[in-house]
Amino acid sequence: MTLTKENIAALIKAAQAAITDHADELTDLDSKIGDADHGYNMTRGFNALLEDAGAIADKPLPDALKAAGMKLVMTVGGASGPLFGTFLMALGKELNEDVSRAQLGDAVRKATDAVAKRGKSEAGQKTLLDVLYPVADALAGEQSNELVVGTAHEAAKATIPMLAIKGRASFLGERSIGHMDPGSRSTALLIETIAKWQEQT
Ligand code: ADP
Ligand code: MG
Repeated sequence: MTLTKENIAALIKAAQAAITDHADELTDLDSKIGDADHGYNMTRGFNALLEDAGAIADKPLPDALKAAGMKLVMTVGGASGPLFGTFLMALGKELNEDVSRAQLGDAVRKATDAVAKRGKSEAGQKTLLDVLYPVADALAGEQSNELVVGTAHEAAKATIPMLAIKGRASFLGERSIGHMDPGSRSTALLIETIAKWQEQT
C-alpha cells in the first residue's frame, strides 16, 4: 500500500470517529473499574489529532507518528494519553513505509515494550498491553487482518476475568474482576479501525 497525505488524514478521521462513536461505552467501562473518564480522555486526544490532521499527514510516516504521539501526550489527561502517545512515538522510531507484515509485528511489539516501560507494567495485569502484545504476535505471524482484528477483540474480552494489577482499576483489588479493561476496549476498536482503513487504502 502507498501512503499518501490523504490516506494518513483519512486514518486520523476514522480513528477519531471510532473513538467518539464509542465514547459513552468507554466511559461506562471506566465507571465500573476506574474514574469514568476514558471516553472523555480519548475523545479529547483524538479531536486534537483531527484538528492537526493536515499538519501531521504532511510529514513522512515516522515523523507523523511521533507528532501524533506527542499530541496525545499533551492533550489527554489521565494515564492513557502518555501510554498511547508513547506507543505512537515508539512506533515512529521503528516504522518506515515499506515494511512487511512480520516487520510491522516486530515494530508493534517494540512499541508495546516502550508502553510497558513507561507504565511500569507487563502483560497479564489487565491493561491495554493485554491487547497490544497479542496483536503484535498475530502480525508477526503474518495473520490476515480479519484474524488480527478478531485477536484484538478476543484479547479485550479476555481482560474481563483478570485481576487489575496496574492503573486505577488496581485500587479495587478483587472487585476489578468481571469487567472489561477500558483501555483494552479502545485499543481493540483502534486496531479494527486501522485494519478497515488499510483494506480501503
Ligand atoms: P486514568 O486511569 O488516568 O483515568 P484512562 O481512564 O484514560 O486514564 O485510561 C485507563 C486505561 O489506561 C486502563 O484501562 C488501562 O488499559 C490503561 N493503563 C492504566 N495504567 C496503566 C499502566 N501502568 N500500564 C499500562 N496500561 C495502563
Ligand atoms: Mg479513567
